Amino acid sequence: MATAMPRIKVCDVSDCAYNNQKICHAMAITVGDSHPTCDTYTNSSQKAGVSEISGSVGACKVDSCKFNQSLECSAPDIQVTIHQDHACCKTYTER
Ligand code: SF4
Repeated sequence: MATAMPRIKVCDVSDCAYNNQKICHAMAITVGDSHPTCDTYTNSSQKAGVSEISGSVGACKVDSCKFNQSLECSAPDIQVTIHQDHACCKTYTER
């Protein structure tokens, strides 16, 4: 069981309030439900989050991912990208 929150190594979603130069500055994002969408994505021209930190995965509801253990992410780190019209976990791997 993972005991530390996986870091978001890179996020391509530049129009998100938490994104600054491909770094996520939300303390912890939520991913899911059935599709690995970043639920924390917020479209805003105003910047948000904590500039001194890079974000982590707080919770993930995508049980079909091989890194998911008890709705927590156990990957060493993740990447977030744009998939179709939404922010999505690129590290998602089907079991
Ligand atoms: S790697 Fe899998 S478990 Fe981790 S956040 Fe992405 S979809 Fe969820």
